[in-house]
Amino acid sequence: MPAQTPRQLLDWIDDEAAKFGSATTREYYLNYAGLKDDLALAPIFRKHARLFKRETANQLLKTKTKDQRLRNLREFVVGGYLERAARKLTEQIAARETADSVQWADAQIPYRSVQQIVTNEPDAGRRRELDRRRLEVTAAQNALREQRWDFLYKQTRDLGFESYVSLCDTLGALDLQGLRTMMEGFLWETEQPYREALERELRGIDVNPAQAERADLLRVFRSPRFDDLFPQERMLPVLRSSLRALGIDVDNQPSVIVDAEDRPQKSPRAFCAPVRIPDEIYLVISPHGGHDDFRALFHEAGHAQHFAHIAEDQPYAFQGEGDNSVTEGFAFVLEHLLYSSPWLKKHLGMTDQADYLRLVRFHKLYFLRRYAAKLLYELEMHESDDVRSFRKRYADLLTTHVGVRYSSEDYLADLDDGFYAARYLRAWIFEAQLRSVFVRRWGETWFEDEQAGSTLRELWSYGQRYSAVELLRQLGEPELDIAPLAADVADLA
Ligand SMILES: [Zn+2]
Repeated sequence: MPAQTPRQLLDWIDDEAAKFGSATTREYYLNYAGLKDDLALAPIFRKHARLFKRETANQLLKTKTKDQRLRNLREFVVGGYLERAARKLTEQIAARETADSVQWADAQIPYRSVQQIVTNEPDAGRRRELDRRRLEVTAAQNALREQRWDFLYKQTRDLGFESYVSLCDTLGALDLQGLRTMMEGFLWETEQPYREALERELRGIDVNPAQAERADLLRVFRSPRFDDLFPQERMLPVLRSSLRALGIDVDNQPSVIVDAEDRPQKSPRAFCAPVRIPDEIYLVISPHGGHDDFRALFHEAGHAQHFAHIAEDQPYAFQGEGDNSVTEGFAFVLEHLLYSSPWLKKHLGMTDQADYLRLVRFHKLYFLRRYAAKLLYELEMHESDDVRSFRKRYADLLTTHVGVRYSSEDYLADLDDGFYAARYLRAWIFEAQLRSVFVRRWGETWFEDEQAGSTLRELWSYGQRYSAVELLRQLGEPELDIAPLAADVADLA
């Protein structure tokens, strides 16, 4: 790397990161779309090895410049350095998760499929027994996960950070303490309505709330009673007409490639693969209908539209890197249409909405409380230098705030790197706040106002140049404010 000035260094990294990002995203796309059997990431990492070298990370950590790309590229390189350093253990864990299975009624169920079967099991006794067998297998894998965190914590300190919390908070500008305060208030305020709704839903599937476990709650959300209202063949037409109403010319948008073809190895879950931003964005779906599938499609379509509208001349640092609370927030903007009463009536002809809205609002509140609990847990654990003493703490915090029994064996399996839980929480807050501005300006049916559409397109065009808070300031909102989100889920009666 013959880079001398900070600008040359950032130019070089920006260019390399774009090539690396495009190559890995293409590989993920091909594999998850069922077009390619293997996932060959190692050759791509080898080709761009210099990006994630210790000296590159050090160089960026020392660089001082007003160049705005620094923030995003530094986070990308340091994150990539840690990921690459831990790769052997990550691969060993993935290999175990793929190879392990659970014995169930004369059959061996692949470890990663167990949760789906738990969710679909109507009998509470069988459901819990199967989940207990999953936990035994998880517990046997945990030594590897523990070693991986030992290793990541050591690398973190070697890079000069006091803790993993401080590394993620500093590089990601996540304001984790501010977020913690906000979420603690939210947990306190929503406790009562949440408990009441939880009890009602558990009794609805004949589970005594005092004995309820995580597996029972998964079952509540799998409720098939609304599936007929969300037919498979309506998914794409409804998405297209919703985007058209916002002034997006979907019939003339070659950059978003919808891959709806059936393939045996294709991921059942919708995803978005921004292979070349903004010109080659894949929206990959296997539509099967039902409200959760609709929500997943709209979420991924939100990512796809965001990426497709990013200005061509933005550097990669702003196109493909940065505060993921932003792209997640825009994904939630479209996903939230599935919670909007006038939208449901107009696009799905849904007139009797009360029962459905009750369930999905409860689901959202559950998610928020679960992620808030995960944040509290991660903030405690990642401040330490040994994860092993936090097994029970995980189960206690999750059980307390979600209200059903969680097990300590999941303490590392139910955990994403880099405080992704905080990104989601920030994205939910950002989206609700953004929407509250839109509703003030254009009313409850903002989603069919071309002005709202053009404001969205302008915000999209920046990519992730600005953080969620910086974007909100452009709309006249001074800070992240959880009030609009709290108001969304308050009405659970
Ligand atoms: Zn997303």
